Formats: sequence, structure tokens, C-alpha cells
Amino acid sequence: MRKALVAGNWKMNGSSDSNKHLLEGIIKESASFSSVDVALFPPSVYLQQVQEALVSTELAWGTQNLSQFEKGAYTGEISAPMLNDFGCSYVLIGHSERRCLYAEIGLDQLILDYIIAEKYAVAIQAGITPIICIGESPEEHEQGKTEEVIARLVDIVIAQNGVQALSQAVLAYEPVWAIGTGKSATPEWAQEVHSFMRERIYKHDPETAESIQILYGGSVKGDNAAPLFSMPDIDGGLIGGASLDADEFVKICQAAVSY
Ligand code: PEP
Repeated sequence: MRKALVAGNWKMNGSSDSNKHLLEGIIKESASFSSVDVALFPPSVYLQQVQEALVSTELAWGTQNLSQFEKGAYTGEISAPMLNDFGCSYVLIGHSERRCLYAEIGLDQLILDYIIAEKYAVAIQAGITPIICIGESPEEHEQGKTEEVIARLVDIVIAQNGVQALSQAVLAYEPVWAIGTGKSATPEWAQEVHSFMRERIYKHDPETAESIQILYGGSVKGDNAAPLFSMPDIDGGLIGGASLDADEFVKICQAAVSY
């Protein structure tokens, strides 16, 4: 039986004051979702604030990205050893908002998949659980390319690092057309894609396929979380906008309790 995980991606939002309020609101209710793994992803300038607030709770924290390099002349980047300094348990890798940014400077999606596989290996080596985000763009969705996009990254990650390494990772299906649009995928659609991801891994290693947590992300709110989480291959959610509101985020965590 896989444990549910709910991850809150704050993106570039927050301030010291609003974070304090948000953290207090979540911590106050955390006994009501103690059977669920919960992790928060603040902007990295607030890592210390989040670490101090969560260190004596069951809640975990991490960053929204990491560099594939250990140190050096990479302005604006953050390394895995730095994440270790702040007690991060998780890191988001390959979020579509990062992909779009890099695509703008000319990297194609295939090269990005290789970079994501490198970042994933660096996180695993540092003992940090990577949450690898995968999802099709609106155009790819229209063209029926969902499985092709997902298979490409899953295959590269397995080829570069071996299937066993995946047992220390989390996957997140995040259709780009559903992120921040208010148009969540239906539970049935998401289930079909999650099942495809699990089967792809199953061919290499049934045990890893059974144990890996696969999250759904894309406009999850308090009122649509339960039907999504009730699907057999959906093991929780990666939450953007709704993770900025304590009541809404708590509702989502509670929906994962009985999943
Ligand atoms: C995300 O940023 O990963 C995300 C799923 O955002 P939202 O929940 O706002 O769609």
C-alpha cells in the first residue's frame, strides 16, 4: 500500500508575514492528516523560515528546482549540498514553468529531459527525494501525444540511472493545460495516464512500479481532490495555487487521508 503525498508548490509567492500565517494555518490542522506525507516548496529565500517552522512537525520541505552542478559559476542556481544545509527532504525537478523558461532560450524538450535526468541523479546522490514533473502541452494534448511525451522522459530517466533509482523518487503527472487554468484533468483521464506511467516502469521492475508514488498536479482544489485521489494509481497531488491558502490546502491534505 502506497502512502499519499501532498506537495505544495508556492512558486514565486509569499512574504515573511504571509508565510508565517500560512504555515501556522497548516500546522494547526496537521493532526487531521497525519497519515499523509506533506511537503512544502517555498521560494528558496524563505527556506530557513520554513525549516524553522516545520522542523518539529511531521511536515517536510524542499525547493522548486536544483542545479545539476555541485558548485561554481552558475549565477542564480542552487546546489544539492545547499539543500542539505537546510534539511530539505524533497526537490521539484522539471516543473513545466522551468521547462518553458529554458525552452525560451533554445533548448529543445529532448535535451531538457536529459538535464532533468541529471538533476534527478544529483538529488538521489544527495539523499533528497526528487519529484519529477512530466506532462504534455496543450498542443501535444490536442495531437494525442500525451503518452509519447511521458514515455520519453520516463525512458531517459531509467536509461540514465537504472530503474531501481526510481524507488527513491516520486513522479508527478502535470498536464500543462491544467496548471493554473482552473481546468483540472478528469479523474478518469488522470488515472489512465498514471496507469500508463506505472506500466512503463513495470516492464523494467514490477516492485518499483508498485511502490512509486505518482502524484497528479493541475488545478487541484479542496473540492476536486477527493475524486482524483480515489483513483487507484493517483497517490496524492502537487498543488500550486491552492497551496497558498491554508484552509484550501488543509482540505486537500485531508482528502488524501482516506485515499
Ligand atoms: C503546479 O504549479 O505544479 C500546479 C499544479 O499549479 P496549480 O495547482 O495552480 O494548477
